[in-house]
Amino acid sequence: MALSQNQQSRGIDQAMSEYKTYVTHLECSETGEIDYEAGKPHGTSRIGKPLMVRYDLAGMKRDLDKNEIWARPGGFWKWRECLPHIDEDNIISLGEDDTPIIPCPTIMRELDITGDLLLKDESRLPTYSFKARGLALAMSMAKQFGISHVAMPTNGNAGGALAAYANRGGVRATIFVPQDAPPTMPREMQMLGSEVIRINGMINDGGKLVGDGVNQVGWFDVSTQREPYRIEGKKTMGLELAAQLGWKAPDAIIYSTGGGTGLVGMWKAFEEMREMGWLESDTMPKMIATQSEGCAPIVKAWDSGEDTAGLWDNAFTHAAGIRVPFALGSRLILKAIRDSGGTAITISEQEIIDARIELGKKEAIHVCPEGASTLTGYKKLLDSGFLKKSDRVVMFNCGNGLKYDMEDRAPIMDIKQPIDWDQFK
Ligand SMILES: *Cc1c(COP(=O)(O)O)cnc(C)c1O
Repeated sequence: MALSQNQQSRGIDQAMSEYKTYVTHLECSETGEIDYEAGKPHGTSRIGKPLMVRYDLAGMKRDLDKNEIWARPGGFWKWRECLPHIDEDNIISLGEDDTPIIPCPTIMRELDITGDLLLKDESRLPTYSFKARGLALAMSMAKQFGISHVAMPTNGNAGGALAAYANRGGVRATIFVPQDAPPTMPREMQMLGSEVIRINGMINDGGKLVGDGVNQVGWFDVSTQREPYRIEGKKTMGLELAAQLGWKAPDAIIYSTGGGTGLVGMWKAFEEMREMGWLESDTMPKMIATQSEGCAPIVKAWDSGEDTAGLWDNAFTHAAGIRVPFALGSRLILKAIRDSGGTAITISEQEIIDARIELGKKEAIHVCPEGASTLTGYKKLLDSGFLKKSDRVVMFNCGNGLKYDMEDRAPIMDIKQPIDWDQFK
């Protein structure tokens, strides 16, 4: 059978138009209200909180073969039965792949680690960040629903992914970027065909603009946690990780947390896998959130035992992806941390810079600042005894370091002068 172009680019080797999915309904994450029909566009719940997609997990347990799914080519779209149903023609694909898990042997040796220190490198996805997972799904759903114009505030990586998947899906995208975000970010979005506006405010200020424009312009709001499908896309990170580790959860996952879709999505994946009987050990991962000292609303709420986090004033960090002063889904983030036995800690700006240089030098992995914070988090939690040297720990690098500022210490050599060769010996 000849493959359609869409099938080829996704590496899918079988017709999938008739595949079954198992969504039963959507549910308000705050009140548990379930009166939200699947297969229809949704923003937040009636009280303005994130909606969660729920599945017939018993049916999935009965029908699905995890190893058959994992053996398929085609990156995160291989998990389609575990996601909301999308007609084949509406699936937007840019050649996704599974992202590698890279061991950190030098740092393990230095710290006498008897367990495992691994880094899952999400920078290999289209537009170079894990935001591709969430936005591929959200934009495919938008295309399916006939949504023609979406908008979002972003510090960068989400905007790049939105620009790509919206453009590819024929959906118009308007994107608001704080003017002090890393300069590569808005340029990438423009390159990928989006309408980009830089604002003299932060991501939550952009969020307010988008919210107002929903009424003024008719935009569909794809901000973090304001529509239900980005979390579902991020869920594939947890499914993929478990499969790569032989269907066993690591002891801990360290994840730099902003709006929290990754942490919440991964925890949802592990809970659903446990329910489906897909995990081959009883271990569930401790979910650990790192935040910058300059913007740590989740850590503050965690330390004071709150169920939700408030607004963080004067947020600052060069790790742009975690400069999120207010997380609409903070209750879900804090619940995932609590239910998993995890924790949340702050990292200083200098520690982030040092950890980024350390991973480059010692393991030859160039991470983004957000990703670097997970190494500092790991070391601090080893010191405090929260993590053990025998633990298997997975750090997440969610974006490509090349999009961010890098220090340049290379001297300039005057090649018209005699060369001092001794300096190279
Ligand atoms: C967006 C982003 C984060 C934070 O992600 P959330 O899932 O929204 O908490 C972390 N790292 C990078 C590189 C990002 O782009």
